[in-house]
Order: sequence, then C-alpha cells, then structure tokens
Amino acid sequence: MPRALIIGGGVAGPATALFLRRAGWEVEIFEAAAEPDAYAGLFLNVATNGLAVLEQLGLRDRLVAQGHPAPEMVMWSSTGKQLGIVPNGPVREPGRGGVVVRRSILHSVLREAALAAGIPFTFGTRLEQIEESGATVRATFADGRSTTGDVLIGADGVGSRTRRHIDPDAPEPRFSRLVGLGGFARVPGLAPTPGAQHMVFGRRSFFGYLVREDAEVYWFANVTTKEGDRADLRTISGEEWLARLRDLHADDPHPVPQILAHTAGDLRGYPIEDLPRVPHWSRGRVVAIGDAVHAISPSAGQGASLALEDSITLARCLRDAEATTAFAEYQRLRQPRAEAVVRYAEAINKQKRVTGSRLGIAIRDAMLPVFLRRARDDTRNDWLYNHHVTWNERTLESGR
Ligand SMILES: Cc1cc2nc3c(=O)[nH]c(=O)nc-3n(C[C@H](O)[C@H](O)[C@H](O)COP(=O)(O)OP(=O)(O)OC[C@H]3O[C@@H](n4cnc5c(N)ncnc54)[C@H](O)[C@@H]3O)c2cc1C
Repeated sequence: MPRALIIGGGVAGPATALFLRRAGWEVEIFEAAAEPDAYAGLFLNVATNGLAVLEQLGLRDRLVAQGHPAPEMVMWSSTGKQLGIVPNGPVREPGRGGVVVRRSILHSVLREAALAAGIPFTFGTRLEQIEESGATVRATFADGRSTTGDVLIGADGVGSRTRRHIDPDAPEPRFSRLVGLGGFARVPGLAPTPGAQHMVFGRRSFFGYLVREDAEVYWFANVTTKEGDRADLRTISGEEWLARLRDLHADDPHPVPQILAHTAGDLRGYPIEDLPRVPHWSRGRVVAIGDAVHAISPSAGQGASLALEDSITLARCLRDAEATTAFAEYQRLRQPRAEAVVRYAEAINKQKRVTGSRLGIAIRDAMLPVFLRRARDDTRNDWLYNHHVTWNERTLESGR
C-alpha cells in the first residue's frame, strides 16, 4: 500500500488524508501545533463549493449543524445606510449559500473523521527537513523523529516549509496592508441575523458581524495599515487592539460600537496575506496544497473551500496516476482557478482599504450603492461557487 506523509492538520491535510484513504493509501498526519486551539483563526465562511466536497466525505451536515447559514451579505455605509444585499453563493439559490462556522469546528469535524477512519494524527510534530532518495521521501521533525513515505503532501499553510523545499525561490506571502481581528460577544437586546452576515464600510475600518440564534455575536474587523507596520503587529497587546478598534469604530452605526463594547478577551491582530502566484507546486515526491500554494485573504470567504477542492483533486490524481504525473495534473487542474479566486479577493480588499480622507470615504459611499444595487441578481460571481469536483470522475485517461 503506498504511503503519504501529510504535513499540517488544518483543513487540507485531514481532507486529503480521508480521500487518499478511500483510494487505498496508508496516510499519516503530522501537525506542528501542540494541541487543538479553540480560538485559532476565529471563524470562516465555508462556501457552497467547499460544502460540496464535505458532502462527499459525509461531513457536510455535521458542519452545517454547528454553523450559521448565511446565504446573504447585507452591506452598510458608515452612516448606517443599506447599500445593497450580496448573495454569498450562486444568485437566486439561497439553499446553496455559505455557512459561517468557527474555524476550530471545521478543524475538529475533519480531525475526528480522520481519527474515526483510523488515520494517525499527531500534534506537536513540526516538519523541519525533507530529503528524497530514490522512490522514498523522508520527513524529519523538530523533536528529532523522522519517517518515510512514497510521497509528502505539504498542507502546512501560508508559511509553508514544504513550499520552500519545492522551490527555495518561491514567493513569500504578500501583505494586503489589512490587519484581521475578530472575536465573540453577547450584546443585550441584539436580535439574531438569520441567513445573513452584515458588513459595514466604516469611516476608518471595515467591520463584519452576525448574530447566531443563541445570541452569540461573531465579529471581525479589517484595519487598514501601512506596509511597514506588518512587523510590529505581534507587539500590540489584545487590550491595545480592543482600545484601538473601539476608537476606530466609535462613530460607526449601531450595533458596531455596542459589539466592541461587549467584547472581552484576548484579541490577536494577524496580517492578511496572500500568494497570488506560486510557479512550482511540486518537486519529485513532494507536493503542496491549500494556503501553502495559493494563500488567499479571508475577504473572498473561499480559503477553506479552495483547500477542500485541492484535497479531493490531488487525491483523485494520486488514485489515477503515479506521483509525478499526478502532481502535474493536479497543478494543471487547480492553478488557474486558485489564482483567479486570489485576484477576486484582492479586488474586494481594495474596497475595504480606507484612505483616511473624508473625500475618499464620500466617493466610496457614493459609488458602492451603484455597484451593489444589482448585486443580488448579478450572476458574474457564480463561477466561484459552481465548481464541482466529483470523486468518481477519473482525472487521467490512462488510469493507474
Ligand atoms: C491564523 C489564521 C486565521 C485565519 N482566519 C480566517 C478567517 O477568519 N476566514 C477565512 O476565510 N480564512 C481564514 N484563514 C484562512 C483559512 O483558514 C485558510 O485558507 C484555510 O484554513 C486553508 O487551509 P490549509 O489546510 O491550507 O491551511 P491551514 O488551515 O492554515 O493549516 C495549516 C496547518 O499546518 C500546520 N503547520 C504549519 N507548518 C507546519 C510544519 N512545519 N509542520 C507541521 N505542521 C505545520 C499549521 O499549524 C496548521 O494547522 C486563516 C488562516 C490562519 C492561519
């Protein structure tokens, strides 16, 4: 039985492991984090294309049951005027909208499925070195342990060690000049927002929120900063971030200031980054997937869904062909779409960046309704969601 070493236990890692197991592979997952982190990454949107992959793993309903279905995004100006309603899924198909879920829940649904399938999943194993020799690849971890397999799959996220092994000259992530922050709150009297997320183009920062049926508020902010501020992000404490956000959003419409007033706990500001183009996705017996090769800003709500699409595609290719052919076919099938979605997310970031000038904000607030007015019926973004990768379809004519 061929053996795959999977580096990273986020989204792409366990999903690939589950599909490969179905194809008859022996798989093992190695995760750098010491333990599951309930706070990591806050929450995210799993779009209908990502849900379609989870469906094929029999995990869709388990995820949706714990999430907040949000087929629509309601857009607001800094003065509290509704700018428009944008579908979070294919136009006029609310039944195929996205679901917002804590990132830790998506991780645990996938991890538990992997464990239930008998796939070893080890925390605290940070990949340090990759060596190839003949038909095998060896992974060595920070704790000195090492293991070999027929292939190594790097699902190790935006800071991927695997990407650098594949190509030492691979591009580094690009900073969007937006800092992502978010949290959870309970605001007395704030009604649930069934079926929707709300997005506010604030005067000095972008803000999004939803209120679950159980009254828990999920919120995030995207703060515009300067390129040079990226290095300083880690030195800013949670309390300082909260104070800054309360100030930045003080003049924004209800319930933005109220949500921030009722937020407590540790906030972390993370740089929103992407990888617009990574030329080489594999070398020899090593391949990279998910954020490792096409990190995407959260603005498109597609990061986890693209990672899931990669997983099923790569596993299908490895089912149907030997490694080198499979990796080339996987990149051929995935790269154009992934790059197009990264570009789409960056176009949204342009709208989110706040110039700071009153005139700039006035122009933005005047233009956005024009763009958003017909968004509800505009099918131009349906390509994002109407992408289906089917497990039973063969990828290569030759077969294996
Ligand atoms: C901190 C953070 C917050 C995010 N927040 C959002 C959000 O709010 N909304 C949204 O849409 N998207 C968000 N994203 C992006 C989204 O989660 C990703 O697009 C999606 O998870 C991609 O899945 P992945 O499996 O490729 O990478 P990830 O889910 O990032 O998983 C990579 C895994 O690899 C592990 N790893 C890294 N290096 C090593 C190593 N050397 N050895 C072993 N393991 C390693 C990491 O610990 C991690 O568990 C966030 C990402 C991060 C990192």
